[in-house]
Amino acid sequence: MEEEIFECQQCGYCCHGETTVSLTPEDLSRMGDYLGLPEDEVKEKYLRITDGVIQMKIVDGHCIFFDDGCTIHSGKPWRCSQWPLHPSILADEDNFKAINRSCPGIKGEVGYKKFCEVLRRILDHK
Ligand code: SF4
Ligand code: SF4
Repeated sequence: MEEEIFECQQCGYCCHGETTVSLTPEDLSRMGDYLGLPEDEVKEKYLRITDGVIQMKIVDGHCIFFDDGCTIHSGKPWRCSQWPLHPSILADEDNFKAINRSCPGIKGEVGYKKFCEVLRRILDHK
């Protein structure tokens, strides 16, 4: 079903930039479990905390966990797991256009209406 509207091109654009998604306490705990490290050590080695907002460190212009793809798979933050099939697409076509511009794996050519139909089915099954 997903391939009707999205096929990842492994371009890595979503893991590049000077900021990353922010982490929730649950993300932090899952990441610690995945890495087999206590949260303090995860924070020190991999995260940056600014005004209470926790994000991954950026190294050479990309997330510290990026190395030809995400290297922490099931340990990644939930906001990364949502990308790019984000529910906000259903609420506003402008979100669809913005995500379509940011992610070459999005099959924008199917059109907004069809895209939403498929996305709704995908999200209902999650
Ligand atoms: S930007 Fe889209 S196509 Fe590129 S790696 Fe991220 S999800 Fe895949
Ligand atoms: S945790 Fe993984 S998916 Fe998320 S930004 Fe870092 S490398 Fe990309």
